[in-house]
Amino acid sequence: MVVWRHLLTTAKVFGCSLDRSSKYVIVGVPLDNTTTYKPGTRFAPSRIREAACELEFYSITTNKSLEHIGFNDLGDIVVSPGDLGKCFENIEKVVKGIVEEYRANYYIFLGGEHLLTYPILKAIDRDIEHIIVFDAHLDLRNEYLGSKYNHATVMRRIYEETGKTITYFGARAFSEEELFFLENNSDIKIYSVENNIDEISSNTRVYISIDMDVMDPAYAPGVSNPEPLGLKPYTMLKVLEKIIQNNKVIGIDIVEVNPLVDINDNTSLLAAKILLEIIGMLEEY
Ligand code: MN
Ligand code: MN
Repeated sequence: MVVWRHLLTTAKVFGCSLDRSSKYVIVGVPLDNTTTYKPGTRFAPSRIREAACELEFYSITTNKSLEHIGFNDLGDIVVSPGDLGKCFENIEKVVKGIVEEYRANYYIFLGGEHLLTYPILKAIDRDIEHIIVFDAHLDLRNEYLGSKYNHATVMRRIYEETGKTITYFGARAFSEEELFFLENNSDIKIYSVENNIDEISSNTRVYISIDMDVMDPAYAPGVSNPEPLGLKPYTMLKVLEKIIQNNKVIGIDIVEVNPLVDINDNTSLLAAKILLEIIGMLEEY
């Protein structure tokens, strides 16, 4: 049995009302260790929670009130700035503990920088078949600035260690190294949102990772690496709906929100709204 509860700090609660029996288990992961451009993602989990409290609990894509749905918000995982090994260790312990204790539930992780998806996916052992990534970037470099574990290499490490199929939406910023890697690894696919998304295999057990820089900076200015020509919120919701209709979701993370460079909390509000819409879809389908 994994001992893990002591690795969590109490925090504000997503949705303002706590329900320990809820099937939606929420954990904050304020990882902000390898950010290369603008640091600040460590402040995102609590800001997204605050933003959620300002929103109406109603899903517009499914026309559903979500007021009766509570969340089992466990707080934030303790991460030590400057000690990435310790961060990974704590994240893996907590996620393993959660999977042990809440086996049939949905796991929702509030980042933090994108690197956190790596220890999370190492720790979830629930037969995830397919990783769906919303990101402007591929994060498939082998190394970045001489380091193998950071936000620009995270998907490469995940692919190497898990060998799982990865599908990207909204990707639009590629390095030559990544394009070469893609050519040689056919399990990794990039879809433009205009493609027929029915081509995505259905009835698979999916983990969805949402890097908020997938959105156009006009809608999500508060990210660590903004990239022009991104998705509009409604387009994003349509793709998410299709994925959730056709697959079994195991876990979701929403990463790279950076409150220190945000404008009027727009990015935290949008992240919270996207999560609420996802909850609506999970309830509906
Ligand atoms: Mn990313
Ligand atoms: Mn990105």
